[in-house]
Amino acid sequence: MQMDQDCIFCKIVAGQIPSVKIYEDDSVLAFMDIGPVSPGHVLLIPKAHYKNAADCPPEILASAASVMGQLAKAVSEAMGSDGYNILCNNGRAAGQLVDHVHFHIIPRSSGDGIFNRWPAFEYPSGRAKELADKIRAKL
Ligand code: 5GP
Ligand code: ZN
Repeated sequence: MQMDQDCIFCKIVAGQIPSVKIYEDDSVLAFMDIGPVSPGHVLLIPKAHYKNAADCPPEILASAASVMGQLAKAVSEAMGSDGYNILCNNGRAAGQLVDHVHFHIIPRSSGDGIFNRWPAFEYPSGRAKELADKIRAKL
């Protein structure tokens, strides 16, 4: 299994630094975030070290995806939350600080003010299609 000796999450997987675990199988680990943005904030990671979603082989992403819903349900019900966000930051510009792909599961309460800014805007006519063509060309 791919691992990086300098990676904090790989150290958690290896048991070299402690964590409060929620769920573990051969491929994935879920544990409490040490700096929660709401009570019950959990991180779900593949045990293998891959930097971000695009670097991660599909079958590894699939192993995380296969437990994501059940885990989110457990987090949400246990916290009595009104909803939850599943978030994967990729790259510094997107707020990724730990370069081992991970999914935040963040319980939400109505009016909690987390992620208050959602700077939605409107495309000028034709722009969405133009950008879609550009993206499709990279697939
Ligand atoms: P990112 O900003 O990379 O998407 O999120 C990294 C997350 O990892 C942060 O929410 C941060 O609180 C959490 N984190 C960083 N170091 C540790 C650690 O040593 N233990 C645990 N449990 N969480 C950590
Ligand atoms: Zn790692």
